[in-house]
Amino acid sequence: MDQTAFYNLSYGVYLCTTWDEGRPTGCVANSAMQITAQPPTIAVSVHHDNYTNKCIRDCGYFAVAVLSETADPTLIGKFGFRSGRETDKFDGVPYAVRGKLPVPDGAMCWFACKVVDRMETATHTVFLGEVLDAENLSKGTPMTYAYYHKVLKGKTAEKAPTYVEETQEGGGSRWMCKICGYVYDGETPFEELPDDWKCPICGMDKSYFEKMD
Ligand code: FE
Repeated sequence: MDQTAFYNLSYGVYLCTTWDEGRPTGCVANSAMQITAQPPTIAVSVHHDNYTNKCIRDCGYFAVAVLSETADPTLIGKFGFRSGRETDKFDGVPYAVRGKLPVPDGAMCWFACKVVDRMETATHTVFLGEVLDAENLSKGTPMTYAYYHKVLKGKTAEKAPTYVEETQEGGGSRWMCKICGYVYDGETPFEELPDDWKCPICGMDKSYFEKMD
């Protein structure tokens, strides 16, 4: 099978949020889509191992927040590459309760959904959510998954439905973030990263980077 064919399916970059017994939590979702118009229904795919999966089951509600191309990429790092089991995904993330669900500031729009059905696959749950409320918060261009990869040079978390195992080529001056997999291969061939270095995707400091060789 030609795995690269899958690159031609279009995806967005979304934050799927819910409540964990009163605490806001969530994860990155790239597989979210509108299924029907009446009643308005959205499907979102969440890995079984994602803590958010359990929380959506328990809560019965979830929100999908759409990120724009100008969204802070560290939101993707925080929500996509760490688990809500061990970390507070909303730590340092301003948010508002919208449609009774936590929506991070910086989202360009949101949908609040009630779980009406779900389908289990080998690895993921597809939640069907009836949209109870929705709102545009700002104008902008919705971020596509292609934009995230090509422009932000972001990586795919292993639990994403679209994950393809990537092979890394060697290179003395390239540095990889151990948290999110971002690879720095920019113009400046750093032998050592600057002290104030921060991962542009997940925000971790230079101690989380390792040289690729
Ligand atoms: Fe990172």
